[in-house]
Amino acid sequence: MKKLVIASNNPGKLREFQFLLQPLGIEVLTQAQLGIAEAEEPHFTFIENALAKARHVSRLSGLPALADDSGICVEALDGAPGVFSARYAGDNPKSDERNNEKLLQDMRGVADRRAHYYCVLVLLHHADDPQPLIAEGEWHGEIAHEERGDGGFGYDPLFWLPQLGKMSAELSRDEKHAISHRGKALRVLLEKLKVA
Ligand code: IMP
Repeated sequence: MKKLVIASNNPGKLREFQFLLQPLGIEVLTQAQLGIAEAEEPHFTFIENALAKARHVSRLSGLPALADDSGICVEALDGAPGVFSARYAGDNPKSDERNNEKLLQDMRGVADRRAHYYCVLVLLHHADDPQPLIAEGEWHGEIAHEERGDGGFGYDPLFWLPQLGKMSAELSRDEKHAISHRGKALRVLLEKLKVA
């Protein structure tokens, strides 16, 4: 595979994928570069949304497509924000800042702060590929009581890593990729690509 399109317009995710895929010699295009609008994400599971996004972009680009569906799942909120992570505080427009404010509100007075990020990656070689490559990753931590750090994106300023004594937003890009849900999922996907 010489080229693939990332089925996302999330600048945080695009930065991470370009950084992670660069060493493989694969030319990484974004759907925005090809003028492809975002797919609908109507489903209630990450995997269904990832498949829908990858198929949409592969169909319209005629190229292999890699989609990521990811989010944060909070134990005390029965897994919310979950698939709604990007639009937790509404989608007109989507806002990381308002999402973080809402999560802090929802967690007010909640003692159990456990949460994890989840990422599923789907790579379709073509739109009708019957055998997509699928890889998952999880990253466990806690929801902090206030925001800190300016790295990463999304919920990173609230994602507390007790073993490191840091927020996810306080990690360098390399540190985050070594342990994050997306880094883990991508390493699994790359192993599968090697044997595919
Ligand atoms: P998606 O684009 O529909 O998959 O939504 C992903 C959303 O999950 C992002 O907009 C963030 O709110 C959240 N998210 C996923 N991965 C991360 C991460 O690595 N850091 C912070 N937030 C993340």
